[in-house]
Amino acid sequence: MMPERAILANITCSTTGHPGVGRFSRQGANLELKGVSRQRPDSVLPVSGSLAQATDGGSFTIGADYRGCPSCGADNVVRCSQCRQLACWSSSQPTFHCPSCGRNGPVRGVITAFSTLGGG
Ligand SMILES: [Zn+2]
Ligand SMILES: [Zn+2]
Repeated sequence: MMPERAILANITCSTTGHPGVGRFSRQGANLELKGVSRQRPDSVLPVSGSLAQATDGGSFTIGADYRGCPSCGADNVVRCSQCRQLACWSSSQPTFHCPSCGRNGPVRGVITAFSTLGGG
């Protein structure tokens, strides 16, 4: 009986630029996004490394009970192919604008896997 361990990662709102903390739970080789909480602007979570490790070779899915970005309500999350930061993304938008590095680009397919935009 292994207790379910939450995995945290910074997720920036791509609309407002407000930092948030995503909470994932492990589902086999994949991670499921459970929710995102707003983060105080002056606090920093040193968690991106653990997420990168946790998702090495795996993918992530959006949990059925995910309520969307706490800042703008976007229903999905992508990882920037350039700076590898996570940010919210509304699946009704054909393009993604990265709040961390400013990259703009089309989102291909349904973003349920880091590898979709991860590249290398
Ligand atoms: Zn947002
Ligand atoms: Zn970026």
